[in-house]
Amino acid sequence: MSEQLELQNYVNGKWVSSASGKFRDVPNPATGEILAKAPASSAAELDEAVQLAHKAFQDWRKVPVTKRIQYLFALKTLLEANVEDLARIITLEHGKTMDESRGEMRRAIENVEVACGTPMLMMGDVVEDVAPGIDEFMIRQPLGVVGIISPFNFPAMIAFWFIPYAVATGNTAVVKPSSRVPITMDKLFRLMEEAGFPAGVVNMVHGGADIVNGMLDHPMIKSISFVGSTEVAKHVYSRGTANGKRVSAAGGAKNPVLILPDADVETTTAIMMDSAFGCSGQRCLAASTAIMIGGADKIFIPAFAEAATKRVTGYGIQPEVQMGPVISPQDKARIENLIQQGLNEGAEMLVDGRNAVIPGYENGNFIKPTILVDTPVNGIIATTEVFGPVLGIMSCNTVEDAIKIMNEGEYGNMGSIFTRDGSAARKFRNEADAGNIGINIGVAAPMAFFPFSGWKNSFFGDLHGQGKHAIEFFTQTKVVIERWPREWSRKF
Ligand code: NAD
Repeated sequence: MSEQLELQNYVNGKWVSSASGKFRDVPNPATGEILAKAPASSAAELDEAVQLAHKAFQDWRKVPVTKRIQYLFALKTLLEANVEDLARIITLEHGKTMDESRGEMRRAIENVEVACGTPMLMMGDVVEDVAPGIDEFMIRQPLGVVGIISPFNFPAMIAFWFIPYAVATGNTAVVKPSSRVPITMDKLFRLMEEAGFPAGVVNMVHGGADIVNGMLDHPMIKSISFVGSTEVAKHVYSRGTANGKRVSAAGGAKNPVLILPDADVETTTAIMMDSAFGCSGQRCLAASTAIMIGGADKIFIPAFAEAATKRVTGYGIQPEVQMGPVISPQDKARIENLIQQGLNEGAEMLVDGRNAVIPGYENGNFIKPTILVDTPVNGIIATTEVFGPVLGIMSCNTVEDAIKIMNEGEYGNMGSIFTRDGSAARKFRNEADAGNIGINIGVAAPMAFFPFSGWKNSFFGDLHGQGKHAIEFFTQTKVVIERWPREWSRKF
């Protein structure tokens, strides 16, 4: 990507340059090179996209669902053929490694595959003879224009928790990608164009908070699917619902992992390193606190220290690299500041990844894997979403103590346990206050046919992204009660 791209919006089947004259640079976080400029679109440009999506909805909702999914089958084939290209773009603009980017694309494609089952997934219910000669049935109809807003950490996957289901159920969509990683969505929209979706079915408007607020206030947008930080998720949920919209808003996370002394050392260590440091800790399912139970610390702290120190940090495009940079210099400074605050509060440094220098990539935002031990339970490292390659470790005596620590936290995106003890695992699964649970799993990311089930301050709404939840979110139920008396008809 040598020449700088000026990104465009995609509205009603056409690529359109924003007339706002305002742009945001999109740098490569490993090199500092500017890859593209993303427009900060105007309110009028958003309005035009929504109006045209609304117009397109009138026809799209009448296209048989069996035909609507044909565009998804075409898209799936195109995505498969372009995985390497897409992965490269994700790595260039986000910084994660090529394998992580390929994994992200796999997850996006799986959502397209699941949404191809929409003819069955959106079936309604019927009960005959609810009263003599009266039948009642429930059908699912699309909402209209739906808004989709995504965060920076998965430039492709997260919008795909929603887009395939939204359009397969007969809605038209306006997507606002993260302005920090907009190039991947540009490429994805080019593939949606190639898949042949009719004009106005899928639309993309670039921008930041102004466009989000415009979507929240627009009367023709019927629902908002949002993923991002908790503060913004709360804002999106309250403003969107106050405007009468259906809103699903996923927020930030702080994911505790309980480790018992009987857990397999090699597997647990490898999985934990990937969970805490994969995607440089910029995953909403990253293990960010390890709670060592009943002496597990003596076994696992040395193993974690050795493995974290060996992890290869660098430019994610290079195959030997296991961890890339964080998204921006501001985030690097924020994360290093949190580490220092943690130390000031009494935590001890086990592995210090600050001041990382990667030869040849001095302009990159690198922090190497960092582990702090004895982090105070109510301290900054244990309670704040760091969203960087930082693992805090604390210790306690029993599974009960550990579950209590976890459940007192404000987030509920994920909790995991590592053990060979089935009854400890069962207790954890039953009592942990989180919507995604891992048992000997480091990143408990639900497959596309399960809902991405955040709880507490990790989610505001009722229905999550993916699978049947998404189908239900993007449809409204209509109940019909019918009477057709025999005596009214001509007798055939
Ligand atoms: P963010 O909240 O800064 O941005 C998310 C989206 O909101 C972007 O499209 C952005 O342009 C927009 N936005 C930013 N500030 C806004 C404001 N003040 N008003 C209106 N809109 C605004 O999040 P991010 O930094 O891009 O992503 C990282 C966050 O997302 C982390 O907190 C992470 O945990 C969370 N996340 C959560 C999940 C989940 O499933 N719960 C998944 C992925 C990421």
